[in-house]
Amino acid sequence: MRVSELFYSLQGEGKLIGVPSVFVRASGCNLRCVWCDTPYASWEPEGDQQSVAAIVDAIAKHPTAHVVLTGGEPMIMPDIVELCDALAERKYHITMETAATVYKPVKIHLASLSPKLSNSTPHTRQDGKFAVMHEQQRLNVPVIQQFIDASEDFQLKFVVARPQDMNEIHALLAQLHHWRPADVQLMPEGTDVTTLHSRTAWIDSVCKQTGFRYTPRLHVELYGNRRGT
Ligand code: SF4
Repeated sequence: MRVSELFYSLQGEGKLIGVPSVFVRASGCNLRCVWCDTPYASWEPEGDQQSVAAIVDAIAKHPTAHVVLTGGEPMIMPDIVELCDALAERKYHITMETAATVYKPVKIHLASLSPKLSNSTPHTRQDGKFAVMHEQQRLNVPVIQQFIDASEDFQLKFVVARPQDMNEIHALLAQLHHWRPADVQLMPEGTDVTTLHSRTAWIDSVCKQTGFRYTPRLHVELYGNRRGT
């Protein structure tokens, strides 16, 4: 698996916010979000190939039982099932952060599903050459449902930039089953505190009306938009 970074930090988003965790960032993605905050794992992937054994050894150097597999898109990595098996055998709690466009039978504890809305489509970046591919692949309802049905726990984490994003979210949720409002997390889009806070008021209001959860981006607030955090 190609890894762009492996680091120890606090989970900054979602149901496990604040939990000290090792992050393994797979390098490579089948999408190209215009606002991607990890372009070194998507638009311009970096990093070396690492064996499952080497990744497990690197994780074991940190004093936590929580591992977050993130990306890029970890679910497109050829050895992701093997890595999850190895971590589960060692009793790690595994969070899989995925855009939920590809399913494989991975042993995980929290499926952190982040279906991408139309605000992610890169019409303006690199002359829009990835826009059609991204638009065709960004939503896969059967795969999202497969994760929901197969997972011990899950969250649907939406990156929201504008109030009209809620129309797309409600339309998607109407096609899904077996979710509760508490499983839906709304996270402001942005990589600086000013932008994040500018979106807080309307997200706060939507959460109070729907029972959805607001998730900040704690790592941005604590460390800024820096790699390895
Ligand atoms: S799915 Fe994630 S890693 Fe891939 S382009 Fe979008 S934000 Fe970046």
